[in-house]
This record gives sequence, structure tokens and C-alpha cells, in this order.
Amino acid sequence: MAVPKKKKSKSRRDQGRSHDALKPSAHMECSNCGELKRPHHVCGACGHYDGREVVAKTAAA
Ligand SMILES: [Zn+2]
Repeated sequence: MAVPKKKKSKSRRDQGRSHDALKPSAHMECSNCGELKRPHHVCGACGHYDGREVVAKTAAA
């Protein structure tokens, strides 16, 4: 197994982590109910997508 010859400095170590941060997830307001939903996904609250109901609501309201 290859073994590193030199210890990575704190700077080099942290430079490698420069892209590791998690980005905040994108959310849009549902055009039907106003709940936050992920773009290009069916609304989890009302089951609407593209202005119509595509998934039947599980809870009868
Ligand atoms: Zn909705």
C-alpha cells in the first residue's frame, strides 16, 4: 500500500476540503398550497405538480 512520505499541512488538508460543504437544498413554494417543495418534484403536502393533482392525497380532508 502506498504510504504518504510527508505529513499534509493543515493548509493542504483544509484546501482539499474546500468543496466538501453541503449546499442548502433548493425549495420552492407550491403554487397550489404554498408549502415548500423541491423544484421539479410533486408537492409532498397536496400531491400537485404542474397545476394539477397527480398524486391522490392519503389523508382525507
Ligand atoms: Zn402543494
